[in-house]
Amino acid sequence: MFGKTTHIIQKNTLTKDDLTYLISLKGDERDYFLKKIGENYVQTLGKKVFFRGLVEFSNYCTKDCLYCGIRKSNQSSDRYDIDDDEILKAAKFAYTNNYGSIVLQSGERNDPIFIKRITNLLKKIKDITDGKLGITISLGEQTEETYQAWFEAGAHRYLLRIETSNEELYYKIHPKDTNHNFQNRINCLKSLQKVGYQTGTGVMIGLPFQTYEELADDLLFFQDIDIDMIGMGPFIEHTETPLYQHKDKLWSLQRRFDVTINMIASLRLLMPDINIAAATALQAIDPMGREKALKYGANVIMPNITPTIHRKDYTLYENKPCTDEGAEDCSNCLNIRVEMADREVGYSEWGDSKHFFSRTSENNKAF
Ligand code: SF4
Repeated sequence: MFGKTTHIIQKNTLTKDDLTYLISLKGDERDYFLKKIGENYVQTLGKKVFFRGLVEFSNYCTKDCLYCGIRKSNQSSDRYDIDDDEILKAAKFAYTNNYGSIVLQSGERNDPIFIKRITNLLKKIKDITDGKLGITISLGEQTEETYQAWFEAGAHRYLLRIETSNEELYYKIHPKDTNHNFQNRINCLKSLQKVGYQTGTGVMIGLPFQTYEELADDLLFFQDIDIDMIGMGPFIEHTETPLYQHKDKLWSLQRRFDVTINMIASLRLLMPDINIAAATALQAIDPMGREKALKYGANVIMPNITPTIHRKDYTLYENKPCTDEGAEDCSNCLNIRVEMADREVGYSEWGDSKHFFSRTSENNKAF
């Protein structure tokens, strides 16, 4: 039964056709595929899931991505910028609750005041957590010098999503101008690897105009650039964005969800030792969305520890879950969710990407 899927799972090298087949699976054959990947993944990576306390500290952005609710042209977005003391408090919360790591995320800014502020913040976070809290940053496209400065100040993982590896599709979801340049984004990923970051990227799944073949290409792109971490989730439309005009071309939300889970499982097969995040957007579609991602390939989850008052304003997409819970509630809830997925939390561990260490052949041990 399901000979083709069994054959693909056993192969050493996966082709675009193989991945397209897996990504588009439905019904019993899909269930079989997901179950197999879940079993294999526990055997190779174990059951541990790592927390990254997420601080979305500002929704000011200089860019205008056509799908994003906090794009600079959206006049109805309530803008906020959390002050440094509150960010430090959130970092301390993550540390004392044994999260192991935090993620600092904001809209994109490249001005010297912002760059300096981040450098100082990173140093302070390292100071108040005795150098023990791992720091991932997700602050967009910057110069290599800036990436270097932030690396030296204490960040060691960087997430920069390509959103789609297909250049033509990229320009259907971004303005075609110097501020939104596809090649520059790829160059930034290369700079991050050169500086020494564990480097993460990701895509949106179920974009208007997107095909299964393009999604298979996305997975091969991750392999080709030798990525260490992936965060990918279903595309969820935002009414106050230009891309909303193409809503009639979208797959159903359920299809976007199912294909995202198929993508996660397929990527786990393709790159067994990378870190894969269970995106919050999955939970916006299915209340058990993140648990399903953990079962079928994801091993990182990001409790939101942004002060509650600001969470509703960091809306890249609509119907974002967990916008009115405090950090404590979020942590308890996630703990239970991880157990429900038959996984366990690696408290106080950085949970670094194993792939990074084999890629760089370094011996620095994860905390
Ligand atoms: S996706 Fe990121 S860079 Fe683009 S507008 Fe939204 S916050 Fe800014």
